[in-house]
Amino acid sequence: MTGGVPMVAGARPFQQFVLKVHSRCDLACDHCYVYRHADQSWRHQPRAMTPQTVRTTASRIAEHAEAHRLHRVRVVLHGGEPLLAGRDRLRLVARELRSALSGVAELDLRMQTNGLRLDEAWCALLVEERIVTGISLDGDRISNDRHRVRTDGSGSYDDVVRAVRLLGAPEHRPVFAGLLCTVDVANDPAAVYRALVQLRPPRIDFLLPHATWDRPPHRPHGPTDYADWLITIFDIWNSEGCPVPIRMFDSIRASAAGRAASTEVLGLGSPDLVVVETNGAIEQADWLKTVGQGAAATGYHVATDSFDVAAAHPGFLARATGVGGMSGQCRRCRVVTVCGGGLYGHRYRTVNGFDNPSVYCADLLRLITHVRRVDGPRRHHRLAETDFETLAFGGGDADVVGRLADAQISLRRSLLAHLHKAGALTGEAWRSLLQEDAAVVDAVLAQPYIRAWAVQCCEALAAGRELPDTGRLAEMALAAAIGSKRRLDLTVPLRSGAVQLPGLGRMTVSDKGVLAAGELPLTVEDGRMRGFERAITFEPLRQVTADGISVGLEDTDPYRDCHTWPSAHRLSEDEFRRWQELFAEAWDILRRDHQRYAQDLAIGLRSITPLAPVPGRRVSDTSRHAFGAVAIALPELPEDLALLLIHEFQHAKLGALLDMYDLVAPAHDRLYQVAWRPGPRSVESALQGAYAHLAVADVWRRRKGGEAAEQARYWQAAAVAALDDIVAGGGLTVLGLRFADGMRTAAGGDPVLERW
Ligand code: SF4
Repeated sequence: MTGGVPMVAGARPFQQFVLKVHSRCDLACDHCYVYRHADQSWRHQPRAMTPQTVRTTASRIAEHAEAHRLHRVRVVLHGGEPLLAGRDRLRLVARELRSALSGVAELDLRMQTNGLRLDEAWCALLVEERIVTGISLDGDRISNDRHRVRTDGSGSYDDVVRAVRLLGAPEHRPVFAGLLCTVDVANDPAAVYRALVQLRPPRIDFLLPHATWDRPPHRPHGPTDYADWLITIFDIWNSEGCPVPIRMFDSIRASAAGRAASTEVLGLGSPDLVVVETNGAIEQADWLKTVGQGAAATGYHVATDSFDVAAAHPGFLARATGVGGMSGQCRRCRVVTVCGGGLYGHRYRTVNGFDNPSVYCADLLRLITHVRRVDGPRRHHRLAETDFETLAFGGGDADVVGRLADAQISLRRSLLAHLHKAGALTGEAWRSLLQEDAAVVDAVLAQPYIRAWAVQCCEALAAGRELPDTGRLAEMALAAAIGSKRRLDLTVPLRSGAVQLPGLGRMTVSDKGVLAAGELPLTVEDGRMRGFERAITFEPLRQVTADGISVGLEDTDPYRDCHTWPSAHRLSEDEFRRWQELFAEAWDILRRDHQRYAQDLAIGLRSITPLAPVPGRRVSDTSRHAFGAVAIALPELPEDLALLLIHEFQHAKLGALLDMYDLVAPAHDRLYQVAWRPGPRSVESALQGAYAHLAVADVWRRRKGGEAAEQARYWQAAAVAALDDIVAGGGLTVLGLRFADGMRTAAGGDPVLERW
């Protein structure tokens, strides 16, 4: 084996590995790119991947992950039909991968199947080995059986739907990834959509049929057949409140909002995917098989070549060049940052290779333009039903937390707009913020304590009092100008002799004249503050960092004092170092033992506010008005910090959900006794506590030895008892009951709704 060869310039490490564990299929779909397109190399592949090839591949992946310090790798078990490999072989694959990656990187193990062989025993294996599985289904019976047929011509619809229902059952649902539907414009889009949605998958993925400029897609009705078909679905889906995430539409929205697309079909993210064939050959993505015999081949093999060597193959290098590597038409296109030129394989033409827009260009342009027009500049925030379910189960989906965070930014914008309309926020600072790019303003609004200040202002306004601190607006405008590198001259009122820039830090003034004037004239230019350098002490917002996360340690924001416990003073360098050490150790624990919660924290946690220590107590808190922040007094042990981070961020997520939906019955004033606090609590507080303590029980369940099992039992029973009490007390709306239903099911109890 070769290894340790440095990557050539321009090469990127792979983060997704597709393993063809079996090369044959028990369906004979006529749109399949493996068996029905130009490349027929599958005929020379062994049927199943041998244990030796599995072991070698696993160690190659671990070698690659270690060399590039990847904290997470995705491995997708594919085929052919992967279930044909049999349970023993797939168990072996999962265990070899996990063992090779142990202590190196987190394994995100996935599988895509036609579902025909899926039964209880398979589902148990998927749960046991944490193989998150997607099922291919093309819609209703007529649509699905148009192509997805057995060799004898019989349709597969009934068996696939049975498999979807089985994998969607509560005991298997944590490993259900969603449905993959290949578009056929001959099918009725509304019927396809209805058939997929009524199965309540966690996600739907639409796949455009594989095509090139040499083999364009079939367009019986016109040049934008595929866009028209997808737009019909988008409009229904959007009008119904987006009941289930649809990856293609969500990706358009994400790219339009400046976030990464979640599909290779759209967006500018460079492909980081490599295929290992059943015989161990290293290949490029499968859709290249539409181009011609051997188009996906690299000539490398896991037995002799590392993935670093393969990454230098011209095929991978050519595709890692972003906008600069696209055709002239794409580079000039107004939607290129969203479209990304479409799937790489769809650009192929014999005469000039991949130097073309996508063969679906007209469709992509029309679809993206339509979604943007419907959404307008800023869309109303909603969660899909499945997002709701994910949160009820405790979390574990970065996209869902991203949507909660986006909604919080919109809420903060609305609060500012309300204050402006009331005449409370005006002047140069306001005008300056209006001129900034939306993304720059969003970055400032994402600072957790902005809302705490805005809420205080709104309360003062409602009570007819003077606004507490209009200087905050000037501080926000300066922070935005630093982010955008725009020039800005502003005079900012001092607050206790200081100016605090949200997300950046605190400037304390020592100049007597300025202190006497009570305000500080400041200039921002080229992203830097100018003037008064000698008269100012700057205390930056310091970050605690670990692999895959960086979080501000917030010890200067004046609005951080909105917690139950007093915040700590500005930390000394020694205190900061202790935080850094403990945070890094806690993050290791979170990543290793509590991946679901770690994913949520990595996306949603922006800052930790150190609290003043309380002798003999572990104290922590979350404010409804500071999503993104948790407040914690530094505990002794990293295990305790990990637990407090999970506990508090559960409160933050539920708080954000409660901002969007009414889960608690209005005017319900009954109080509830709970095990974790003395004295009765409001229904919202009791629900919050139950949600957070189910996560606490989950954490203890994953710990070993000592009191762990007993603690897990205690907190689970306490949380479930509180939940039952709230439900019995009529404290929840119908939506709240649904949420409680998910919590109860996640806790392994009887669903609530069945009893109501
Ligand atoms: S819409 Fe067409 S031209 Fe524009 S980026 Fe996509 S493929 Fe290229």
